[in-house]
Formats: sequence, structure tokens, C-alpha cells
Amino acid sequence: MRAAVMREFRGDLSIEEIEIDEPRADEVLIRTVASGICHTDLTYWGGRHPHPLPMILGHEGCGIVEAVGKGVTNVAVGDAVVTCMTSFCGHCDHCVTGNLVLCESPERDRAPNAKPKITARGEKLHPYGRLGSFAEKMLVYKNSCVRIRSDVPLDKASVVGCGVLTGVGAVINTAKVQPGQSVAVLGCGGVGLSAINGAVIAGAGRIIAIDSQPQKLELARAFGATDTVDASMGNAAEQVTQMTHGGVDVAFEAVGTALTAQSAFAMIRRGGAMVLVGMLPPDENVSFPGKEFVYGKKVIGSMLGSNRFPHDIPQLIDFYVQGKLKLDELVSQRVRLEDVNEALQQVGKGGVARSVVVFD
Ligand SMILES: [Zn+2]
Ligand SMILES: [Zn+2]
Repeated sequence: MRAAVMREFRGDLSIEEIEIDEPRADEVLIRTVASGICHTDLTYWGGRHPHPLPMILGHEGCGIVEAVGKGVTNVAVGDAVVTCMTSFCGHCDHCVTGNLVLCESPERDRAPNAKPKITARGEKLHPYGRLGSFAEKMLVYKNSCVRIRSDVPLDKASVVGCGVLTGVGAVINTAKVQPGQSVAVLGCGGVGLSAINGAVIAGAGRIIAIDSQPQKLELARAFGATDTVDASMGNAAEQVTQMTHGGVDVAFEAVGTALTAQSAFAMIRRGGAMVLVGMLPPDENVSFPGKEFVYGKKVIGSMLGSNRFPHDIPQLIDFYVQGKLKLDELVSQRVRLEDVNEALQQVGKGGVARSVVVFD
């Protein structure tokens, strides 16, 4: 089978023939049908976050189960499944208290001295997020995937596994936005647009989208933003504070820089919350004016939308079927595996909300 292999950071991914093992106990072999290209793939390609090489990027995977190992009961051969990076064991302290995304259990991986799941001419390959969906097949831990209904197009379903789950989950699971609350979303890429969509689903009142690219603000309106602020036209926090007479209830930072995090914090009202959805580089710190915390303002971290994905992903797919979740609008481009390098470099540029790699 073929995969796009990254042998050096910032180098072209090479399309290579690779070998994948049979599923062992608690493992699932999936034939990949589609994989979204997420900003995090570009981030890891850039090398600022350490990761062993060679690696297979891609983590918004979707496909059909080809085989299952002993002890797998959540999915069966022939099922359509969506994968998720936040795999969980189901019985550690984080898991049993409902914080599946925080699971660190080593049982989600093969033992370090075991046969590698994926190799290229004998060399071990490292799939990103235990998934590596820029490949024709994935061999994943059983709790890295969930069965979905079979009547939805899988190229649309793939993006639910990270970008959509992250954006909608930040609104519904992390911030628990209530009907009528005002929200601001900084950054209108795939995650930001999904946060806007999530705010609509949650019944938010005013939904203010902030970006510096006019095309993205236009998209944001299509996703349900009631107002837009062009961040290139002056201080966004001041504009939002004026528009809302004191700030929003919740601001979602979906860019991943210290500057936008500070801007997001500066636009929340007293008692409001800033949810850090974007991923800051590991060497970047962010500071906030200390006196503001007296007013009950909160900074909340959110990992992949604080998801409980076996529950959330099928629900999001239902929202799509009901017309509440905009996936058709989000998936703006389909590419072949051969074109993954070009598509990866387009991530974050104007016009393309989400590219999806499709397989035969
Ligand atoms: Zn992602
Ligand atoms: Zn666990």
C-alpha cells in the first residue's frame, strides 16, 4: 500500500510503498477513503513541535474497517468509521471521570519492543496521532475510531474527526455556551468556522467572526456569523468591546498565537471566558493583565474540543444530515494523495476552508 511519508521536516512528503501489519488484539485495520488536511499537519510538517521521523501525517481519517483484532467489539468489518487523535483506554482516572481527551494510557500503543505497525523496507514509520491518514490504510487502536451511519459521504465525514470536533466541541463541551450568549471567534479557518457553526447550534446570540482575510469573513457569514471584524483594520478587541458594549461572554482563539490569545482575552466581558482552541508553539508563552482576573474572567484550555468522540462524532454526523452542520461548505477541495504536498501548503491560505485527500 502507498503512503505519503515525511522523512525530514519541511521537506516534500514522498509517496512510497509501505508495509502494514495485521491487527493484533484491540487493533483495527482501516482502508482509508478520505483524509482531511488540517492545520496541525502543516504545523508538524514545519518541525517546531518535536516528533520522531519518518512519520506519516494526516489525522482526519475516515474509511472502512477491513479487519479487527481480538477483543474489538466497538466496530466490525465493513463498518464506516471516523478516526480521532484523542484515543482513550476507557478505564484510567481521566477516562472514568469523563475526560477522555486527557488519557495517557500506554495501552493505546504497541509495546516499544513489539513489531512496528507500519514499516518502509524494514524501517519503522511513525503515524501522527496514532493514525497517519495520508496512507491507503491505517492500523489503529480500537478507541481511535468510531462507527458512523453508512448514508453519509465519507469525504465530508472525515473532517469531523478533528477540525469540526475541535471547533464545535470548544463551544458545546468546553465553554458550554448557553442560548443567547455572545461569542467571538478569532480565526476563520476550518476550526474557527466550525466554532461559528457550533455557536449557531448552541443558540448563541451575537456571533462575531474575526479574521484579516475578507474571503474568510465572507465564509464566516455563510456559517452563521452575525457580525464580522476585519482584524487588519485596527484593534479587533476594541472594536468588539464597542460593538457589544463591554465585551462578549466567550471568545474563542482559533489561530494559535500569543497575540491573538491576548486579543481574545481583551474582548471578553466581566465574568467572561477566553477559550484557547488554537495550538501555541511549545516555546511560546502568553501573558494576560493580572488585574482582569479580579473580574472573574477565565482562560480555558481546550484539547480537541474536550471531546467524547464516540458520542460526539455520530451526533455531529446527525447534525450534518439534519442540515445543521455545514460540511459541504467546509470541504472546498478534493485532491489525490500525489497532490498532498501542494494541498498542504495551501492550508491557511485564503479561499480554501478544507482540502480532503480522497483515495480509490
Ligand atoms: Zn487536526
Ligand atoms: Zn484512559
